[in-house]
Amino acid sequence: MLPITGHVQTSLVDFPEKIATLFFFSGCNLRCPYCHNSSLFEVPPQEKWLSRDYIISDIQKRLKFIDGVSFSGGETSLYEELIDLVKEIKERFGIDVKIDSNGLKPEFIEKILPYLSYIAIDIKTTPDLYGELGCKLPKKEVEQKLLATKELLEKQTNAKVEYRTTMYPKLVESYERLCKMADFIPENAVYYLQRFICDNAYSAEAKASESYSMEQLERMAMEMRRITKRDKIFVRTYLQ
Ligand code: SF4
Repeated sequence: MLPITGHVQTSLVDFPEKIATLFFFSGCNLRCPYCHNSSLFEVPPQEKWLSRDYIISDIQKRLKFIDGVSFSGGETSLYEELIDLVKEIKERFGIDVKIDSNGLKPEFIEKILPYLSYIAIDIKTTPDLYGELGCKLPKKEVEQKLLATKELLEKQTNAKVEYRTTMYPKLVESYERLCKMADFIPENAVYYLQRFICDNAYSAEAKASESYSMEQLERMAMEMRRITKRDKIFVRTYLQ
């Protein structure tokens, strides 16, 4: 069984251009200060997990109303069993599947990729600052893993690739850092600078932190497009 503990029956915003049903994992290998899902950090007892039968039958029931299934977290790549579940969903229903991941497990991404239509990777900051996210890996290993994920996603042709960064000023304080981060983003990816919202942030410091304004973010995106010579860099906000 998988520690899938949350379910949003239909979402119009999670899976681009799709009406999707959305499942959430508990458990994460990071502790991002700005995380809005800190209730999902720890894995609760198994009786709180949604069973595979529930997930399959719920998707079946909803097929007339949805055209996508999305898995988010927590961190999806911690759970190898998800590969088999996604394969089953794809084969039984032929429906598009998306996952979100922090990209630190390229070996998982390689195995699940053939069954995905969309993958969204969170690149948080440059590898030297991943320690601030509670990441236990040394900088060199973070770098290798993010580059391996990038290479995999650059080569594949199945899935649309999105990268995004929550623009928490402490972790992305300069163009210099943003441009270094671009080295870890595949050329074929669309890249979103997402507005950081301090409400419900995990750490007290993040809760008290200022956000960049939409105008600042638009300027950053424009400047990044110019510096990196990439067109597909945009700003996104889910909340006002
Ligand atoms: S933002 Fe994502 S990767 Fe970071 S702690 Fe929250 S769930 Fe984990």
